Amino acid sequence: MTDTPLSGRSIGRKSIKASLKPRDLMGETPELARAFQAQVITLFPGAFLGVLGESLTGKALNEGLWQLKTYDLREFGEGRHRNVDDTPAGGGAGMVLRPDVLEKAIIAARSEARGVMPLIYLSPRGKPMDQPMIRRLAACDGVTLLCGRFEGVDQRVLDHFGIEEVSLGDFVLTGGEIAAQALLDATIRLLPGVLGNAASTEEESFSAGLLEHPQYTRPAVWQGREIPPVLMSGHHAEIGKWRKAQAEKITKERRPDLWAAHEARKTP
Ligand code: SAH
Repeated sequence: MTDTPLSGRSIGRKSIKASLKPRDLMGETPELARAFQAQVITLFPGAFLGVLGESLTGKALNEGLWQLKTYDLREFGEGRHRNVDDTPAGGGAGMVLRPDVLEKAIIAARSEARGVMPLIYLSPRGKPMDQPMIRRLAACDGVTLLCGRFEGVDQRVLDHFGIEEVSLGDFVLTGGEIAAQALLDATIRLLPGVLGNAASTEEESFSAGLLEHPQYTRPAVWQGREIPPVLMSGHHAEIGKWRKAQAEKITKERRPDLWAAHEARKTP
């Protein structure tokens, strides 16, 4: 095995920069400078771009609105076998990612970070992801994401670097990669220029603290079911009222916790 330099793999606009004419480059540079920088430390860099290469997030990557760089944890491993893990202190099943190996990967990523870039470990013990958290993240210059595997990471790394823990939900995945992609997907769609219609992020679920109203499209009648007539009426005020009432009803029924928070915000 050869000692490859500990460099990450970049995906995004950078790769085509060399083919740009000098004049084009003048126009391209500021756009790239504004690109949201996603750094992912993972044992499975092949899992990226994953679903982020599709549809709106894939298009945004090609347009230079964000960039991804993966840091292959294996490359920072110890010895001939590039070991990254060891048995848990105190005994028990599984393996734990070593702090010294993680340290090298984290330092490599952070040395390339610029501006405000939170350092996050995807973890079932973390703060559950929600839309306000994603909005704050989308306002940053980027993010460094650490994906765990096996039994997770040595606690001292989290303490030493002051790493924030963020969870995808109350269940246990085999690794942080899917959670990282979920976080990035939700964040990237909020970046300026990613969604065609910016208003759609304002109206949708969670933005106003309510779940979204039901959606319909053609055909007007399907399996004997009609689209609610008000939506076909062309009366925008009536449609707005109907949607608001539906959003409130659905939120009350399905998520009393969100409804209570929504009501609490209204009362001074
Ligand atoms: N032993 C741990 C689970 C480790 S799962 C425990 O019981 O808490 C292996 C890795 O998957 C974790 O290091 C973490 O990075 C990731 N992971 C698992 N569940 C997750 C979740 N709900 N949200 C975010 N990441 C998760």
